This record gives sequence, structure tokens and C-alpha cells, in this order.
Amino acid sequence: MNSRLIIAIDGYSSCGKSTVAKALAGKLGLHYIDSGAMYRAVTLYFLENDIPVPGPEELHDFTYDYEKVLQQINISFRFNPENGFSEVYLNGRNVEREIRSMEINEQVSHVSAIKAVRKRLVMLQQAASSEGGLVMDGRDIGTTVFPHADLKIFMKADPMVRSQRRYKELKEKGVNVSLEEVMQNVVGRDYEDTHREESPLRKAADAIILDNTHLTQEEQVAFVMEEIRKLSMSTKTA
Ligand code: C5P
Repeated sequence: MNSRLIIAIDGYSSCGKSTVAKALAGKLGLHYIDSGAMYRAVTLYFLENDIPVPGPEELHDFTYDYEKVLQQINISFRFNPENGFSEVYLNGRNVEREIRSMEINEQVSHVSAIKAVRKRLVMLQQAASSEGGLVMDGRDIGTTVFPHADLKIFMKADPMVRSQRRYKELKEKGVNVSLEEVMQNVVGRDYEDTHREESPLRKAADAIILDNTHLTQEEQVAFVMEEIRKLSMSTKTA
């Protein structure tokens, strides 16, 4: 397998993108990068340091020196041998758990619509490919971060099914939240992510759709592995 392979996985919130991406990276011996974790880490920094976050209506007329704030933020990933995954660090602190809270869920789409934030994170994401092949999941990986990715997958699923999956996950982590709140957040983030001006969530023209409403995790991974097999066949015959 080509160790410089770049696989972009985009799609709606709570589609199970990271589960599929992690499994693929493990099978293919590639790095996995969760680009959403980077937007979440910036959001955590903004909340902890009282940095103002404009809502979608205010964004246009909002002036704030985000570039200066972003200079204070260092985001990195470190491999955790206990679970076999890379975890996100904000200025040297492991924030993997904190960034999954409902508070972050509620703000992250506002923060990710800020042009300076996107510019900085896209640059970091692109730089990650200098270390070799990778699987990256997010919203704009196939359209903006890696428009020449070897394989692009666009994941979708019924919003109710996605909300139920996320609700179960949060409950298992002991988060006190209702299914309605989760559904509101999932649908609300989808709306903001698809309607923002800066690289909105959309399917790249050459992305393959994976609707996982009725698929198990194994079936989803098998689906993508089959696409990778086809890809390696076509490059062999080319
Ligand atoms: O993937 P996850 O749900 O953790 O992403 C959190 C949020 O980060 C998304 O709802 C979106 O607003 C933002 N995001 C983004 N571009 C990416 C990845 C995530 O705008 N590539």
C-alpha cells in the first residue's frame, strides 16, 4: 500500500467519520488526524480566555484581532499508546475529553466560521501531510485542505439516527443531556457548517457518498477498503 496515500473523509456532524477514519488509518498504517478536534481546541481556548465569538449574523461586521490570539495557541497531536490513538493537546495540555463537552459543541461552529481561524488551521492540516500519508476527517478536507486527495469520502446519515448515536455516546460518558438537545445541536451545526462563507461543508465533485444510516461500522470500513482496492487497481493499470 502506498504510504503517502491521502484519504479525505468529510460529512455531516455525528456521522461516525472519526470511527471510520481511525479504523482505516489502523488498517493502512497511516496517520489519523481529526481536524474537528483542532477547531474544538481553538474553541476551548476562546472560551477559557473570554475571546469574543460572533454569531453567524454578527460575523460580517465583527472586528477583532484573531490573528494575534491565534499566535498564542499551539495545537498538536500526541500518540497515546494506551488507546492506540493520537490525542489533541492545547498549549501542551491534553484536552481530548474537554473538547467533547456540550458547551464546546454549542460554540464550535461559530468559531470555525471565523476566517483567520480557518486559515491557520488549514495551514496546519496541510503541513501534516509532509510527514507521510494520512486519513483526515472534517468538513472541508476534500474541497479545501486536500483538493487532490487520493480518495474522498462524503459521509451522511439520517439526522435522527445520527442524533441517537451521539446521545448514546454522551450518556455513556455521563453527560446530562436530552435527545432533543443533541438533535438541535447536530442539525444546527450542519446548518451553520453548510451555510458559512469560508469553505462551507459540501461534497467535493469527486467524492464518493457513504450513507451509513443502515450500515454497521464494519460495513462502512469494508465499503471504503473496497474503494481503496479499486483505486490501487486503477493506478496499477494506468
Ligand atoms: O468533526 P467535529 O464534529 O468534531 O467538528 C466540530 C466542528 O468543527 C464542526 O461542526 C465544524 O463547525 C468544525 N469543523 C470545520 N472544518 C473541519 C472540521 C470541523 O469547520 N474540517
